Formats: sequence, C-alpha cells, structure tokens
Amino acid sequence: MKAERYRIEPGTEVDLSSWDPADHAMAPDGKEAARKTIKQLNRRLTELQELMYAQGKHKVLMVLQAMDTGGKDGAIRKVFRGVNPQGVKVTGFKKPTGLELAHDYLWRVHAHTPARGEIAVFNRSHYEDVLVVRVHDLVPPEVWSRRYEHINAFEKLLADEGTTILKFYLHISKQDQKERLQARIDEPDKNWKFAKGDLAERALWDNYMEAFEAVLSRTSTDHSPWFIVPANAKWYRDLVILEVLVETLEHLQMRYPEPEEGLQDIIID
Ligand code: AMP
Ligand code: MG
Repeated sequence: MKAERYRIEPGTEVDLSSWDPADHAMAPDGKEAARKTIKQLNRRLTELQELMYAQGKHKVLMVLQAMDTGGKDGAIRKVFRGVNPQGVKVTGFKKPTGLELAHDYLWRVHAHTPARGEIAVFNRSHYEDVLVVRVHDLVPPEVWSRRYEHINAFEKLLADEGTTILKFYLHISKQDQKERLQARIDEPDKNWKFAKGDLAERALWDNYMEAFEAVLSRTSTDHSPWFIVPANAKWYRDLVILEVLVETLEHLQMRYPEPEEGLQDIIID
C-alpha cells in the first residue's frame, strides 16, 4: 500500500514529534499532480461504495481524530464528495449527554457502527474517552487507564463480526493550529466554529500530544490500524485518506450480487 508508511505497526511506541505534519512523501510530483490523483481516487471510491452497497456484505468503519482545526470536517467533505449519501453514515460525537453518561462510554458508540453495505464515519469517537477525558481528569486515572484494553476488545468484536476498521489521526503542527484558529476569529463565516474554550484546549497541546501518543501506541492493531496523516496541507491529508480507503476497499474483492435467473429472457413491454 502506498500509504503504508503512515500505518502504525502494533506495538510501536509513537513519538509524535518525530512525525512531520508537513510530510509530502507520497506526492513527489507536487500538488497539481496530486489533485488529479485525488479526483481519480474519489471517483473510484464512488464506484466501490456503490458496489459495497449493492453487495450488502461488507461493513467499513472509519474513525477520524485530531486536535481542534485538524481538518476532520474538511476531510469528510472532500473524501466523500460525490459518493452516494445513502451508504455513508457520518456520526459526530459531542460532549456526552446525561443519558449517555449514565451508561458505559461505549454504549453510545456501538449503535452507530456500520451495518452491512455501509461505510460509517466517526467524527471523533470512543477515543475521546481516553483523550479529552484523560487530559481533563474527567474520570480518575484508574478508570481511563483500563479503557485502552476495552477499546481493543470492542474493536476486535467488531472486526470478528465482519467490520473493516480504519483509524486516522490527522496530524497538524501547533503553528498551523494557531493560523487556523486565528482564521476562525478573523473570518466572519468561520466565527461559528470558534469557541473561547478552544484556547484553553490549545494551552493543553502537550498533554493532548501525550494522550494521542498513548492511543496510537496502544490501540493500533492488525484488524484496526491507526494511520498518522500529515495534515498541514489539506490536499495531502485527503490524498492519504483516499489512498488508504480505496486500497482497502479494493482488497475486499467485492462483486455485484448474482442476478435473478433468466433475466436475459425478459423483455419489458
Ligand atoms: P466539535 O467537534 O468542535 O463539535 O466539539 C465536540 C466537543 O465534544 C469537543 O470539545 C470534544 O472534546 C467533546 N467531546 C466528545 N466526546 C467527548 C467525551 N466522551 N467526553 C467529553 N467531551 C467529549
Ligand atoms: Mg470545535
């Protein structure tokens, strides 16, 4: 796989400072050439998703995590451009409601996992329960520290029952976040995306990096791998995600279902 270099081998200790958020290794011919590839991959994704929906056999779960402004929304918009919305279910996970908090943290997640024929996209996910929750001490360390194991077991269950899982950490630099947050303040159309609380989160950048490193080091498995996506350049982010997604779907070797017998003899009058 072309994007193999971004896949985290199980058991790797990830040090995010050694991953370049501006890496362009997969696009040696530059941005314009990459844009063509992105278009082709997007078209192929559209075909593969149609096939997946028609066959109604495979389930794909795509998890997106990132710091604020990391580009989760943009990636969803661009990667799935033109793809039939009927077969793609996007779920955004916000601060849990009272009802959700009254259950275990995976309760709200399981309901949104993909059915046969579907691609489910998680904009944030159960990983928030070892990211924001860990960074803000929303539960004690003995509680969040057990969750990596739960999460691995949960994802193993999904994989055993036929779900293909792909997880993407969109990696941006602290400087890029600064520029993107400033743009949300300066551009009136983007004001809605900005909350003053985002600044308090930014101040915890190093704590978040530590929490992400734990996630990437402990929950990348063969059946549910993490990819660290260099995301300073939006086009490169989209290219990497599309490469992984399309290649993974190609590997499923999907076929249209067998037509009913005798179709060739039917003439509609
Ligand atoms: P946004 O993605 O900008 O709409 O923000 C969603 C917010 O919900 C983020 O600040 C997340 O950190 C927060 N959030 C998501 N899941 C959880 C969770 N399990 N516990 C606490 N906060 C969460
Ligand atoms: Mg936000």
